[in-house]
Amino acid sequence: MPASTPIGIDLGTTFSVVAYLDSTGRPCTITNSEGDLITPSVVLLDGTSSVVGKEAVKAAGMEPDRIADFAKRDMGSMFYSKKVGGEQLPPEVIQSLILEKLKRDAELKLGPIDKAVVTVPAFFNEPRRKATQDAAQLAGLQILDIINEPTAAAIAFGYQVGFLDAKGEARQKETILVYDLGGGTFDVTLMEIEGSDFTAIATGGDVYLGGIDWDRRLADHIADKFRDKHHGFDPRQDAAGIQRLLKEAEDAKRSLSARDSVTITFEHVGQGIRLPITRAEFEEMTADLLERTRFTIRSLLKEARLQWSDLTRLLLVGGSSRMPMVQKMLEEESGLKVDRSLSPDEAVAHGAALYAGLLMARDVPTAAGKPAAKPAMRVRNVSSHDLGVLSKDPATGRSVNSVIIPRNTVLPVTKGKRYRTAKVGQKSIVINVIEGGDGAGRNSTPIGRCTIRELPSDFPAGSIVEVYFTYGENGRLKVEGRLPELRRKATLSIERASGLNDDKLNEWGDRLKAGRGR
Ligand code: AMP
Repeated sequence: MPASTPIGIDLGTTFSVVAYLDSTGRPCTITNSEGDLITPSVVLLDGTSSVVGKEAVKAAGMEPDRIADFAKRDMGSMFYSKKVGGEQLPPEVIQSLILEKLKRDAELKLGPIDKAVVTVPAFFNEPRRKATQDAAQLAGLQILDIINEPTAAAIAFGYQVGFLDAKGEARQKETILVYDLGGGTFDVTLMEIEGSDFTAIATGGDVYLGGIDWDRRLADHIADKFRDKHHGFDPRQDAAGIQRLLKEAEDAKRSLSARDSVTITFEHVGQGIRLPITRAEFEEMTADLLERTRFTIRSLLKEARLQWSDLTRLLLVGGSSRMPMVQKMLEEESGLKVDRSLSPDEAVAHGAALYAGLLMARDVPTAAGKPAAKPAMRVRNVSSHDLGVLSKDPATGRSVNSVIIPRNTVLPVTKGKRYRTAKVGQKSIVINVIEGGDGAGRNSTPIGRCTIRELPSDFPAGSIVEVYFTYGENGRLKVEGRLPELRRKATLSIERASGLNDDKLNEWGDRLKAGRGR
C-alpha cells in the first residue's frame, strides 16, 4: 500500500490551515470542503455530532450555548472554559473535532491521511504541547512531530521568499524576528539561519493576547455607545448579543486595516446605533495591547543580548499582524522594513508541511506519487519556560523553586538533579515538577508529581537518587530516575496535574469514534 502524504497543520486559535508538499516539494494550501483556504476553529456541538468551521460560525449568533471557540487558549487545562451543550468537555476533545474536519477535507484531495505535523505557539508550555498531541491522536492522526509556529514560519519564508539558495541554504547569516500575532495568542521568536540550520535563540509571548482582545475592546466601545443612546440598555447582557457585538467589531477591525474609517451599524432587540470610527481612534483604544507586544520584544532582545541593529529581517505572521499599527510600531522600533512577501495566514502551515517533508524519508511518495524533495535543513528550538522542582525549605517552611533547565535553553537538553534518601529503608521520593513561576513557584504551571518508588528496602539513609529531566526537540518532557550506587534505573511515574491520562484518552477515543461511526 502506498504511504500516505503527510500534511502540515496550523491549528490556530481562530483559524486553521492545512498544507502539503506537491510533487516538486513545493508547499500548497489545501482548500476545505467549503472551498476556503482557512477554516474557522469553531465547533458547533449537537449531541454527539459536530459541525466545524464556517457553518458553526454562522450558527454562533443563534445557538451560542452550543458553540466552542478559542479552545486553543484552554489547552493544558482540565476543561474548556464554558459548558457546551450542557457538558464540560476537555479542550483536547474540541481541538480533535477541528483536526478531524481538517483531516477529512484534506483526504478529499490527497486520499487517506494518517501523518501530520501540527504547529504550536513557541510559548506553549509542556502540558499545552501534550494536549495538542493528544488531540491529534483523538482525531486519528499520527503526529510526526509538533513544531513551533514561528519556526515553521521562518522555514516557509526561507524557502519561498528566496533568502535561501537552490540548495536550501541561507545566502548569508540571517538573524530574524518572527512576530506572530494570531487570533488568540502572541508569540515572538528570534531565529538565526545559517546555511541550512534554523536555530531559535530566544522565544517569548503571551498565550492570552491576540486579535480577540482587539475585538473585545471595540465591542465594548460599541456597547458603551449603544447603552448611552438607549438609556442604559446593554447588549452585553445576553450571550447572543455578545456574539453579534464581537462579530461587528471584528468586521470593523478588518476594514480598518484597509481603510481610515468605517461606520459600524449594530442592532439589538429592535434598537440600533450607527457609529463612525476612525483607524486613529481604534489604535488609541487598543494602544496598550500593542504596547504589551512591544514590551515582550524588548525584554526578549535584552535576554538574548541583541540590539535591533543585529537583526536582518522582520517577519510578520498571524492574521492580526495585518493591522497597520503592528507594522508601524515594528518599523519605528527597529529601523527595518517588514517582510510582507508571504501570506501571514498560510506561512505557518507551509512551514509545517516542509517540516513534515523533512521528517519523512525521501522515498515517501507525494500526492503525485513521486518522492518529495526532502528539505535538507536542521531545526533547533529553545525551551520556552523554566523547568523547576518545588520543595519546602526545612528551615523556613517556605516553597522554593529550584530551576533545573532555564528557559531559552537549546533543545534537546537533559539535566539531572541529585537527591538523598532521608532515612533507612525509605520507599519513595516525591518531586513536584513545575514550569515557569518565580523563586517561590508562584504563578507556575504544575506539570505533575513525579514519584520514584520501589527503592530497595535496605537502602541506607543518604543514598543517592538521581532524577534526569529531558526536554525533547519539541519541548515535550521526559523524566527518568537512576540509582547510581546500584548502577540501575529507578522506577518512576508521573501523575500529571492536568490533561487527559491514558484511560481518559482511550475513553474519549472510543466515544468520538462511536460518534463518527453514526
Ligand atoms: P490567525 O489565528 O493567525 O488566523 O489570526 C486570526 C486573527 O487575525 C483574527 O483575530 C482576525 O480577526 C485577525 N485578522 C485577520 N485579518 C485581519 C485584518 N485584515 N486586519 C486585522 N485583523 C485581521
